[in-house]
Amino acid sequence: MAIKKISILGSTGSIGVSTLEVVAEHADRFDVVAMTAGTNLDLFVQQIVSFRPQLVAVVSAGDAARLRDRLGDEGPEVVSGVEGLIACATHAEAGIVVSAIVGAAGLVPTMAAIEAGKDIALANKETLVTAGALVMRAVAEYGVKLYPVDSEHSAIFQSLEGHRDKDVKRLILTASGGPFRERDPQTFDNITLEDALAHPNWNMGQKITIDSATMMNKGLEVIEAHWLFGLPGDRISVHIHPQSIVHSMVEYIDGSVIAQLGVPDMKTPIAYALSYPERLPLDLPPLDLCQLGQLTFMEPDSERFPCLDLAYAALAAGGSAPAALNAANEVAVDAFLNGRIRYLGIPELIEEVMSKHQVVVPGSIDDVLQVDQWARREADGIL
Ligand code: NAD
Ligand code: MG
Repeated sequence: MAIKKISILGSTGSIGVSTLEVVAEHADRFDVVAMTAGTNLDLFVQQIVSFRPQLVAVVSAGDAARLRDRLGDEGPEVVSGVEGLIACATHAEAGIVVSAIVGAAGLVPTMAAIEAGKDIALANKETLVTAGALVMRAVAEYGVKLYPVDSEHSAIFQSLEGHRDKDVKRLILTASGGPFRERDPQTFDNITLEDALAHPNWNMGQKITIDSATMMNKGLEVIEAHWLFGLPGDRISVHIHPQSIVHSMVEYIDGSVIAQLGVPDMKTPIAYALSYPERLPLDLPPLDLCQLGQLTFMEPDSERFPCLDLAYAALAAGGSAPAALNAANEVAVDAFLNGRIRYLGIPELIEEVMSKHQVVVPGSIDDVLQVDQWARREADGIL
């Protein structure tokens, strides 16, 4: 079996760390040739020493200089900035790029990887939310494979295998419902940062953890599913499923529903994206359905989760609307994380930006970035 050479964008994040765990469990199958990180130099140094990539990138030139000092002459080449990210994303030896930066910052390097003919293991859902039409066109044009890492989309990808697209009736994304699934909405005004960061089932980066509390994460995933699987929003449903065992489902025209189940651990979808169509053994606890006893499902309620409706509305509006939604959400979440707005201010801020947005059809990634910048300025202005 040939060794697969991997470039990991965002190796120090939650997905990046899980990816390296999969690589470490299957060192005979994978070789990391490039890695990037934001600002967590201590962890990055440990990862570089363990996985010995040829090229690494950080955001700032100052961190790049510090990293060179710490790694010494034996270390890999260190680059920085957007050019550094692109250099890692397009590394000549990489066959597959794990796109695991958080936020719209993942778009440019992921697009560069596609244009360099790399297959993509996509965790960065914001890439498809902001520029789905352009990204999917490039995937077709450059003949690359785009494997979903997001657990719901991996589940749908698996549930579609062996079936014909025309037999699909709808996609059903499951959602845990986050920490506020049962909290009285009358008390949402008192939600603290700590409350919102306490996700019941998944251990993830801060931004996606807040997105899970508001269910904007599920809204972004509906948009992501639209681009990955080509169905309109009205054929993509969301079910709250507090146990996070059924990772998503596909309903077919004959009434059959095919689902993928498993313990909630991102190593499963990451490994599948890296080894498709093979499955790799993973060191995870088995799914014990008898011990779980029951799996439950319910309809999400709009009063409790207005962000989900905002995302469906942006998908229906089309064009630049999802990019504006995403940028407004990034500013709102950042403001909440930094104590500048309260929890209920997140949907309010997004809604206000969206009410001012004039939808255009972006013809290029630069057009998308302009919409992104516009929405950030608007949101900052309102703040
Ligand atoms: P995280 O915050 O834990 O990690 C993000 C990584 O990107 C880190 O390595 C960080 O240093 C780097 N980074 C952040 N900002 C950057 C910037 N401006 N430029 C360059 N690098 C930057 O995030 P995460 O939870 O691992 O999520 C990563 C992506 O995967 C997100 O798009 C998220 O929606 C998606 N995702 C995550 C999970 C999960 O379980 N964590 C599940 C599904 C999808
Ligand atoms: Mg998900």
